Amino acid sequence: MEQPRTAPPRICPNCDGFSAVAITLGGRDRAGTRRTITAHCPACHGTGKHFSRRAVIASAGR
Ligand SMILES: [Zn+2]
Repeated sequence: MEQPRTAPPRICPNCDGFSAVAITLGGRDRAGTRRTITAHCPACHGTGKHFSRRAVIASAGR
């Protein structure tokens, strides 16, 4: 039996594809909107995709 060679796109296992989230800081600015910061998944750096472990270490070492 032959197995297909095309691998499906891998979703980051740490964030399950939700690579960036907005976190409220608790306050509101002058316009009345909540102040938020955007946090990216440290494992995939906000891409939501899973790369090989070697590539992640290489990029994290910078
Ligand atoms: Zn991630």
